[in-house]
Amino acid sequence: MVQPDRRGGEPALTRPLVVVSNREPYIHSRSADGSVKWSPTTGGVSVALDALMRERGGVWIAHGAGDADRLAVDDDDRVRVPPDAPAYDLRRIWLTEAEEHHYYEGFANEGLWPLCHVAHVKPVFRTEDWRIYQSVNRRFAHTVHAELPDVSAPIFVQDYHLTLVPGFLRRLRPEARVALFWHIPFPHPDQLRICPYRREILEGLADCDLLAFQLERDRRNFLAAARAELGARGSGSRLEVGGRTMAVCAVPIGVDYDRIQAVTRAPAFEAEQNRLRRELRIDTALVGVGVDRLDYTKGIPERLSALDALFTRWPGLNRQLTFVQIAVPSRSTLDSYAAVEADIDERVAAINAKHARADGVGPIRYRKSALRMRRLTALYRLADFCIVSSLHDGMNLVAKEFVAAREDLGGVLVLSELAGAAQELTEAVIINPYDVEGFADGLQLALDMQHDERERRMRALRRVVAGRDVFRWATEILEQLENLDPRSLPPAPGRLPGRR
Ligand code: UDP
Repeated sequence: MVQPDRRGGEPALTRPLVVVSNREPYIHSRSADGSVKWSPTTGGVSVALDALMRERGGVWIAHGAGDADRLAVDDDDRVRVPPDAPAYDLRRIWLTEAEEHHYYEGFANEGLWPLCHVAHVKPVFRTEDWRIYQSVNRRFAHTVHAELPDVSAPIFVQDYHLTLVPGFLRRLRPEARVALFWHIPFPHPDQLRICPYRREILEGLADCDLLAFQLERDRRNFLAAARAELGARGSGSRLEVGGRTMAVCAVPIGVDYDRIQAVTRAPAFEAEQNRLRRELRIDTALVGVGVDRLDYTKGIPERLSALDALFTRWPGLNRQLTFVQIAVPSRSTLDSYAAVEADIDERVAAINAKHARADGVGPIRYRKSALRMRRLTALYRLADFCIVSSLHDGMNLVAKEFVAAREDLGGVLVLSELAGAAQELTEAVIINPYDVEGFADGLQLALDMQHDERERRMRALRRVVAGRDVFRWATEILEQLENLDPRSLPPAPGRLPGRR
């Protein structure tokens, strides 16, 4: 049955869906008293895909990373989720510690992540990481094959952890319909050439029916690499490669705009803001925020340098402004992450000492833990400005979440020109994180901005963010996948020319 879509007036797609991602949407863990509890994973993408899965049903295949995940599944490693209102199956894949180390930390996060982000951290490619990355991807593909309800079910694979899944799957189920969304930047062919396994990765991706990127730049980079490395032909939205036609598009991801509005309109929202103020000991008239995973691509040291320059140029500002930095620890076993964490610790301490008020309190409040969405939204709302200073970023959802939280039209977004979000959020104060004084000028502009100008900019930003929410993102990709020309279907098994 085709239902009208409440979001765009388009007919909703109702076939059960297969989502494949490294990270699971629900995690089971043990509490201190030994009981098992569950929680949804944070982050806009997982929330959006979960909402789609609730509507359509199907199966979500992901790594079972929770310490009580095994206790919650049935004999087939499945658990119905959401646990309090079951609507679809979560099929968990188990990885040994060694597999997680080589596939996730090693190949994905020490190899592909720095390869794709221009942050001047050298990618590391180890044979053993690659071997295990391949075997884990193969296992994901076999699980998709086993779980596929019927061959018309669209398969939606997420991100750089699973680049080989479409290729392995194509051999098992040539007629499967597969889309992959690449959430991070896709490197220029010159940069991609660093990767010794680039051909295999490109071949895996070329086995998608639809490959979607955040930005036109990423799409162009992929097309150029596929032409150079695989002899692919085509420059528009269709690419001919290995006797098949695939679609390649750019669909920027959005946030769950309506949910954020609902949070800001809830009766307890103001109390939440007051609680946060107290907890963070905010006693100044002005507040700035930064919210990031603790990652070297986020430009946190550069942001601190700009704040240092701002406090230096503006005597007395330390009595008027508190800057709250939330940094969620991530991949902390890797040296590159430990190094940036130590660097940030040092800089925060130095700024707080250098710009301390007479009562000894410095202007930076630094918290290394994650906030749940309600608290995060409250933090966005109490800020006069939000800094997103990525050195390179696929999109940056924090930038869009900040805008979505500002129905009051207050607050200024200070945004790096090197974040994907800068392509759409042109009414932000755009800065270059490498230019300390220019960055400080941007902060000064944000603080000095007249009320009317602030509202005008925020209104324009909100139009963009509301117009492209995360549901529209997912629906657009799945519609494109389901509407593909049947001529792009792969030839029968055994007739794939030449590629392997
Ligand atoms: N986030 C969160 N709690 C925190 C900090 C971040 O839930 O304390 C979420 C945030 O709401 C956003 C995501 O983490 O949805 C970060 O996404 P982004 O695209 O900004 O960066 P990524 O971490 O994917 O590189």
